[in-house]
Amino acid sequence: MSDDTSDYPDPTEPSAQPAQPSAEPGSETAQPVTLGMANTASTAITEVDPEFKKEGLKKIRAIVDGNGVNGEDVKEVHFEGGTLQFLANTKLQFRFKTLERVEAGKRPGKQLPSPKAIHEEIAKQEQKITHRADVVKQVQTYIAEERKDMGYGLDGQMIKLPFLYTDYVFYEACKNCVAKGHVQCKRCHGQGYEMCTQCHGQGLDVCPQCNGSQFIQGPNGRQQCPRCFGRGKTSCSLCNERRKIQCRVCKTKGTTQCTVCSGHAWNTHFYRLEIDAMPSFDFDRSNIKDRVGDVIDDLGPDLITKGHAQAKVIYKEQNEKQSEDKRDFITVPYVVQVPFGELRYKIGEETYGTLLFGYNCALYHLPDLLDKLLKTPIKRLQEAAENRGNVAEKIQKCAQFRTLRGALLASSRYPLKKAAKKIKMDNPQGLRNETIKQITLHADRALKNITRKPRKQGFYIAIALMALIFGVYFAAGIHGMIAAAIPDQLIQLGVDIAVLGLTLTGAFYLVKFMSRHAMKQALGDILSGGNAKLPMPKLGKTAERLTYIAPGLYLLALEASVHLATAPWWYMQLRGMITGAI
Ligand SMILES: [Zn+2]
Ligand SMILES: [Zn+2]
Ligand SMILES: [Zn+2]
Ligand SMILES: [Zn+2]
Repeated sequence: MSDDTSDYPDPTEPSAQPAQPSAEPGSETAQPVTLGMANTASTAITEVDPEFKKEGLKKIRAIVDGNGVNGEDVKEVHFEGGTLQFLANTKLQFRFKTLERVEAGKRPGKQLPSPKAIHEEIAKQEQKITHRADVVKQVQTYIAEERKDMGYGLDGQMIKLPFLYTDYVFYEACKNCVAKGHVQCKRCHGQGYEMCTQCHGQGLDVCPQCNGSQFIQGPNGRQQCPRCFGRGKTSCSLCNERRKIQCRVCKTKGTTQCTVCSGHAWNTHFYRLEIDAMPSFDFDRSNIKDRVGDVIDDLGPDLITKGHAQAKVIYKEQNEKQSEDKRDFITVPYVVQVPFGELRYKIGEETYGTLLFGYNCALYHLPDLLDKLLKTPIKRLQEAAENRGNVAEKIQKCAQFRTLRGALLASSRYPLKKAAKKIKMDNPQGLRNETIKQITLHADRALKNITRKPRKQGFYIAIALMALIFGVYFAAGIHGMIAAAIPDQLIQLGVDIAVLGLTLTGAFYLVKFMSRHAMKQALGDILSGGNAKLPMPKLGKTAERLTYIAPGLYLLALEASVHLATAPWWYMQLRGMITGAI
């Protein structure tokens, strides 16, 4: 363990707890510290479940089974294992951040008499907070219970501690409103009333009947306006001759709410001290076997998140007597349990060794078992790929090995990359990636060798058939019959295009069926135990060539139909356009 953790009660120190039972009577029982694990022990190895070894053997057997050997041919020679318990530590370096803002009103928080006092308090907290038992406990609990990785193995990725913040406040009387919460209305200057906007303070409107002329045209000629009695003016309809109206902003109050303090008369200088944690990790490797320790190192947080091991946080009280020290971190100590075992086994005459690790019983240092077992059949597959000897017979022999059978099936179905991926998925261990690449390539080529002849034959038959179909369609009057039955010219064009598309699709399937037939002949029912599952072979270049040739044949048939006077309207138009342009 690093020196940084030395100011903690060292959980590796066996005397720490039993030596001072009187110091805190009852503390042992009050705290279920390690849930069944010996919290005082350092690295230790205890018995391992006998099922663990069986599980490992079963996994190895599953890998080799069907690849020239039976699972039972894997014979255990020696097993030595146990459940390893070791101590680990995640150190959390605190990072402090203060957010500052002014808010209206009195916001809740720890109140202090001045911003300066707050700054001082924050500085003090940054020193003190890692020494507070409640904070340590809170952080440890959060890490252990809220995070899937329990903080184990973390190094350098910032952890947010969202619950761990303190708000400090300083209340200040609002300067804008002199702590009154309101200010004089700007529109009416505190009067509460403003000049009438309709009569502009005159109190009178121009008479709407005489339009201010005092007289109107009556039945007996010019007469005095009866509406304004000859005054030419009437009372202002808005202010009723009061000349003033209510202030539209303050509605007679003469004041408005202070916008700085929102009427609260006080403002809050608000400081939030936030804390993030930067973790660094180490574990006690001293008594752990190298191979096991290396795996633990490599896995990092995956050791816990992927379920290889079980970790328990050791909740311990802070050592108070050292709380005067400068310190800006806390630690999360763990006890970790992980089963492991070295298994030696024999397949045939050869002896192998593999490390079984973790509660998932993962296999480490597994030799390239399949590379070895499949050496001869892989060679045979390569010969089939190179078109040497009886390819069909060689493929049949290869297909008797589970892994190669899968490879042949994957190669017949998918493009190379996807096929290799599938092989890797089916054989995640025991086969080198290089070998997977090789097998994929060989299988692909070997299958192509099988289907080459039928593909070629199919290709020529397809061309002949396409020529026949297009010829019969345009020249022998079928197109004419359809044209007569369907007067819509666009539908006629659609049918003509459909004939091209359907014929080409039919040609693809013809070649595919012929290749598939050949594959079936070559592979028998070994591949997947039935014809139904035998996939349609890939066409590759043949499909490309057919796609180029089909429109050519189509055009030839059309051109022939021009001379027989059975050509479709659209072709004649197209032809006219092209020849006209030339
Ligand atoms: Zn104010
Ligand atoms: Zn006003
Ligand atoms: Zn009037
Ligand atoms: Zn008025």
